[in-house]
Amino acid sequence: MDYGINLWGLNNFFIDNDKVAINYGNEPTLIEIVKEIESKGYEGPILLRFPHLIKKQINTLYSNFNRAIKEFDYEGEFKAVFPLKVNQFPSFVEPLSKITKKYNYGLEAGSKAELILAMTYNNITSPITVNGFKDKEMIRLCFIAGKMGYDITVTIEGLNELDSIIEVAKEFGENLVHIGIRIRLHSSGSGLWAKSGGIESKFGLSATEIIEATERLKKENMIEKLRMIHFHIGSQINDIAPLKKALREAGNIYADLIKLGANNLKAINLGGGLAIEYSQNQEIRDKNYSINEFANDVVFLLKEVTTKKQVPMPNIFTESGRFIAATSAVLITPIIELFSSEYTSKALKLKEKNPPLIDELNDLYKNINENNYIEYFHDALDHLESLLTLFDLGYIDLIDRSNAEVLVHLIIKKAVIFASHKGFKHNELKRINERIQEKYLANFSIFQSLPDFWGLGQRFPVMPITHLNKTPTRSATIWDITCDSDGEIPFNKQNPLYLHDVDLEKEEYYLGFFLVGAYQEILGMRHNLFTYPNEANIEFDDDGNYKITELYSTQSINDILIDLDYDIDEIHRKLKNLIDNQNLKEEEKKELLGKLLIHLNDTVYLKK
Ligand SMILES: *Cc1c(COP(=O)(O)O)cnc(C)c1O
Repeated sequence: MDYGINLWGLNNFFIDNDKVAINYGNEPTLIEIVKEIESKGYEGPILLRFPHLIKKQINTLYSNFNRAIKEFDYEGEFKAVFPLKVNQFPSFVEPLSKITKKYNYGLEAGSKAELILAMTYNNITSPITVNGFKDKEMIRLCFIAGKMGYDITVTIEGLNELDSIIEVAKEFGENLVHIGIRIRLHSSGSGLWAKSGGIESKFGLSATEIIEATERLKKENMIEKLRMIHFHIGSQINDIAPLKKALREAGNIYADLIKLGANNLKAINLGGGLAIEYSQNQEIRDKNYSINEFANDVVFLLKEVTTKKQVPMPNIFTESGRFIAATSAVLITPIIELFSSEYTSKALKLKEKNPPLIDELNDLYKNINENNYIEYFHDALDHLESLLTLFDLGYIDLIDRSNAEVLVHLIIKKAVIFASHKGFKHNELKRINERIQEKYLANFSIFQSLPDFWGLGQRFPVMPITHLNKTPTRSATIWDITCDSDGEIPFNKQNPLYLHDVDLEKEEYYLGFFLVGAYQEILGMRHNLFTYPNEANIEFDDDGNYKITELYSTQSINDILIDLDYDIDEIHRKLKNLIDNQNLKEEEKKELLGKLLIHLNDTVYLKK
């Protein structure tokens, strides 16, 4: 059982005997890293970030486009920016900005705060693009970036933004920014996120508005600042066909704008949307193209459209974010409880004299083997049915009933193991196993760490990071520790997850959620006041040894409350008063308050 690692893993991880290992440097296992972090006193979920995987994706993007450009004798250049909205955290952005230099890889900002980050962390020779709705203040910030020497392109989302640029240019006495026009396509995207393109889109200028914009720019003598047209048909484009349509449309708009006098127009920016394969299941795929095909299609189509209209081939800009960031983080969550664990042989309370059917169940349990397991399994279900009827009629007691439930569970467990050895050919057992799922309680919050699962039903690859030399036999539902019934990844027959039958008193079990580096961190919610997990960056030195950097603990209760703008001193005072009002000795009060304050300084995720 490899949990589809070859579909979604991109060779970044591999199964080393029984553990997930990192396919880099000295190939450490994930569990080894987790153990080291835990030994430093961190407990609970851990988000591991791998800067080498950010670098790998950037390199994949550039090398594919540069290869396609060579192959098709394309006459424009490939350029790219990272959209900050995908991950703005310093532990991501700082390593990113070290990697970007070599590629002249820039940053994209969609808000004032992101723009400040872009101005701080971009390399001075790399491009900055600015999208989203902008007021004059934001445009002034763009001009300041221009003054600092940045090559900055402001994409206008409407004609009023163009007016603002013209006004701000007068304030500054010169125009310090390049202008991009976001075009409203009549073709649109596909997939869960397909609301960004299309004729009803929230963004972009219509054909009429584009012409109007060009005329205003000419009138203001600013037409040579019009440098880019931009579109973005949505995130995680799972089908390449709509992108091809959009490219044809954009290519023609680009060519016609040049003919209308936009003689400095040099680039088409195709936004983001390059998809990641999240699927663990050969039959359910998330995208129907490779990065290789994506690059070929873009380069080929833009060459075709512009050659036909006899205009220079544009530089190609992309703003792919998910593709760059998703692979770089893995969330590791300890499993802290299995909910059918009460059904162990230890729970049996057999009497001196049991009802005959219970003795028979016990015999079935002892003698079940790989030849008789189907028959014995049927007998067990039959007996359970009879025993429950006997209970309702008052012929057997609660202890007998409990014994019956435990024994039948144990028999089914054994039968499932025999069946799994034979590849689950027996449909009925498969169905039963799917019905009696094990609930794995994982020490994390889905709302905080996998918000796109909660909000969009996005599946993330999940697998145990140990035990991989054993066959997983339990159909699994994963529960998080929030008290919200949505905090659950239910077993899904179409896309089943099987986990191991583990005894948490004797062994530890950790799940890894992969491809969580894009969007999840900033979208994460503080539901139930579970905030960030522990975090660490894993970097490799020249000898291939990993080192743990940027290690941060999950927040203390005090800090969580302060973040919500509570007056923490007042909380402490009120709690102290409640203790003081009790009829207790002074020492007892002191001790109780001391204990309480220690808890407030501690973190919220569960402890072993
Ligand atoms: C969100 C967004 C992106 C990034 O999209 P991905 O799907 O993460 O590649 C790029 N450009 C714009 C304008 C966006 O809004």
